[in-house]
Amino acid sequence: MPGTEYFGEEEKKEVMDVLNTGALFRYNHPELRQGMWKAKELEAEVCRYTGAAYAHAVSSGSAAVACCMAASGIGHGDEVIVPPFTFMATIEAVLYAGALPVFAEIDETLCLSAEGIKKAITPRTKAVLLVHMCGAAGDLDGIQKVCEDNDILLIEDSAQALGAFYRGTHVGLFGACSAFSFDFFKITTAGEGGIFFTNSKEAYDKADTFSDHGHNHVGDNRGMEDHPFLGFNYRISELHAAVGLAQMKKLHQIREDKKRNKTIFKQKIAELPGLEFRHMDDPEGDSGTFLNFFLPTKEKAEETVKVFSENGIPGAAYWYTNMYHFINQWDHLKELRAAAPLAIHHLGAPQDYSNLELPKSQDVMSRLISFGIRGTWTEDEVNALGDKMKETLSKVLA
Ligand SMILES: *Cc1c(COP(=O)(O)O)cnc(C)c1O
Repeated sequence: MPGTEYFGEEEKKEVMDVLNTGALFRYNHPELRQGMWKAKELEAEVCRYTGAAYAHAVSSGSAAVACCMAASGIGHGDEVIVPPFTFMATIEAVLYAGALPVFAEIDETLCLSAEGIKKAITPRTKAVLLVHMCGAAGDLDGIQKVCEDNDILLIEDSAQALGAFYRGTHVGLFGACSAFSFDFFKITTAGEGGIFFTNSKEAYDKADTFSDHGHNHVGDNRGMEDHPFLGFNYRISELHAAVGLAQMKKLHQIREDKKRNKTIFKQKIAELPGLEFRHMDDPEGDSGTFLNFFLPTKEKAEETVKVFSENGIPGAAYWYTNMYHFINQWDHLKELRAAAPLAIHHLGAPQDYSNLELPKSQDVMSRLISFGIRGTWTEDEVNALGDKMKETLSKVLA
């Protein structure tokens, strides 16, 4: 459940700060600002929370993934290994960079598997775009090793994984660079917004320049500096950054609340025979946004969705058919329908997207239920809902 659950006076105050000065643009106008630079403060807060050396706020998570492509030098004809379970933005960022998505298998981690990546590597592979789905990390140890062994870049789409750690380090800091989203559905939200973050000064400088028409922001008068290369407008406004800043300051509490509630749900259903939880190398690092579990068969998973809804259990997603996050629903991609020709139309797709053989991903996704955890549920509410969930699931599994 999104950070909107936690909206309060803090968000209003940050926004009013901006409206009271009239400095809506993230650059320039020091005379108006009364010392307030909300985008910069948001970036500092992201660095403080994650331990990243550099963060750059942009207009959306999609824009932040596009910045990852630019900062990593990914372009025309490069192959980028991607998962079939993600949000479309991951794939679009690759295509609009002029690169070619190559799909590899996911596994019970809900993310690309090291094994799957290995099989998808070709001489044209430039990078792996690992997506940490549903609030927790993929197999970073295994995947980092495959990338190192094969001399390919690791880029992390952490749009759904703010607040997720892997053996003590925040996700997104294991590869070249990474992206968060602050859209309406994420753990913290600015309405719209995103963050590019990295430990590399060089990558940061490229993303910063790319996101603002090539302005390199050297000196304190944006508009009069050099333009090392072409970019685009992916700037965030001070109003959005202000909301994001207030939310970012609440992230620690949001994560605590979600994890506490998730633990109760998990304990209730842990002993049910035939039920399996999402695999995590580091369960402590989980951000707590979703309780993900597998039913023994596709039929049982379909039945679960149906009886959950009949029994008033909210927030269960069956991505296999009911949402826009799995490749089976991506007809526009399978048919390569675009507003105008892209590099992939000239170069040809590296795989036939409508006939991909991803049996492992199909099996995993067909049995997966993702239950969204609210941090604002009271203990009584969680217990009542958890008991109902246990009762409903034991009937399905009987
Ligand atoms: C939400 C999301 C994005 C895009 O973020 P927006 O802010 O909506 O543009 C990218 N990748 C993944 C995995 C996401 O879930």
